[in-house]
Amino acid sequence: MVLEDKVITCRTCESPFVFSAGEQEFFALKGLKNIPVRCPNCRTSLKLFKKGKAADEGTDVPCHTCGEITRVPFKPTGMRPVYCHICFHKQKAPQATVMQIAKPE
Ligand SMILES: [Zn+2]
Ligand SMILES: [Zn+2]
Repeated sequence: MVLEDKVITCRTCESPFVFSAGEQEFFALKGLKNIPVRCPNCRTSLKLFKKGKAADEGTDVPCHTCGEITRVPFKPTGMRPVYCHICFHKQKAPQATVMQIAKPE
C-alpha cells in the first residue's frame, strides 16, 4: 500500500491541512483508526483546553494565525479560532477599512 499525503479540512476552523504520508504511517503503526479531523493549531488549542486551564484567570492558547501563546479571558470551546492581540486587530481592521480613513484637512 502506497501512502500519499492527504489534504483534510479542519473540522474546527475549516482550513485545509496536510495529513502527510509519514503521519499516516505513524498512525498505522500505532494502530490508530481515527485520522485527524483538526489542523495542528486546533489540536493544540484543544489539548490545552482539555487540560482544563482555569477559566477565571484566563486561558493560555496559541494564536490561530501566528501560533504565539496568548491569554484569553474565557475558556475557548475549540469551536472558534483564538487570536493574539495583534492578529485580532488585524482581523478587525482589514486593509479596506484602513484605506477608507481619509485625513481631514
Ligand atoms: Zn483548525
Ligand atoms: Zn497572532
